[in-house]
Amino acid sequence: MFSFIYVEKRIEKHPRTLKILSQFPKSTVITCEHYGEIFNRHQQDFRIQKKDPCLILAEKHNKRIMPAPAEYGLNTTHNYYFSHMLNCIYDCRYCFLQGMFQSAHNVIFVNYEDFIEDIRALAVKTKEPMWFYSGYDCDSLALDPITEFSKSFIEEISSIDNAFLELRTKSTQVRKLLEMKPRNNVICAFSLSPAAVIKTLEHQTPSLAARLSAAKKLQLAGWPVALRLDPIVFIENFRAEYTFLIEQITEQLDFKTLHSITIGAFRLPKGFFKTVKNLYPEEPLFSSQFSSDNGQVSYVKSTEKKILDWCEESLKNHNNCPSIYRQTLN
Ligand code: SF4
Repeated sequence: MFSFIYVEKRIEKHPRTLKILSQFPKSTVITCEHYGEIFNRHQQDFRIQKKDPCLILAEKHNKRIMPAPAEYGLNTTHNYYFSHMLNCIYDCRYCFLQGMFQSAHNVIFVNYEDFIEDIRALAVKTKEPMWFYSGYDCDSLALDPITEFSKSFIEEISSIDNAFLELRTKSTQVRKLLEMKPRNNVICAFSLSPAAVIKTLEHQTPSLAARLSAAKKLQLAGWPVALRLDPIVFIENFRAEYTFLIEQITEQLDFKTLHSITIGAFRLPKGFFKTVKNLYPEEPLFSSQFSSDNGQVSYVKSTEKKILDWCEESLKNHNNCPSIYRQTLN
């Protein structure tokens, strides 16, 4: 899977490093002083790297837990995100990581215990319910068989009374979760899109059927499952495609026990949009009619409202609809 693996010298003997490396006996391993030497090199070609990315094992020193962006969250007050990984093995055309990072290499920060300690300290200090989102700079579970992220974090964070953990994913890697007992304060949130969007924009991701099947297995095992319809893309036959998606959701999953659904129309920070559009000038999505307000490129407000109103209403037309939250900046 990875021809080259870079390892920071200071964590080359870390048990997690050794365990991850043992899964890639054929890879060439190169030591480095700091992951930034490889990850932050100037003038890297994201597209070329994406075809054969390297893996980088590193230690995260600071800024491990960050306040979540304003539109994140479920009308909750204390929202934070953390990233045990940077980048993703999938290749969604709209992914903001392509605008944020110059490199397509995958970084895993192996010092999970430091992240957990920071989360615990923050929760103890705040005392109120706190949400911690993983899967902001990566897909939470896509590399779970290699990283054992879920196994390492869930046990620890579920023991903190006022902490909630959301694992956001498009993957089907739920085996480790199914081996554990379900926790009420750990939510597995599946990002779903109609098959037409997956085919054209969410390259290398699992199919809709596979994602729904993974979500169903977790529901049957008693895990709280949430859905994220974000980004919603205004494609041709929008209503038909999204109506079919909602039907498949309600047929396959236990709608009434879903933890929550969030909806958000396609949007990107302005600078990231420009970079991503330059990477794919021929991509029809980026030629849509957008507006650019508050540093964000998004559908013009009236279109965005119509998209979200229609989705919300369509979901609520089904009995036992769970709570729906909009992910918008205003
Ligand atoms: S799954 Fe998420 S993180 Fe991965 S490429 Fe797609 S949008 Fe980016």
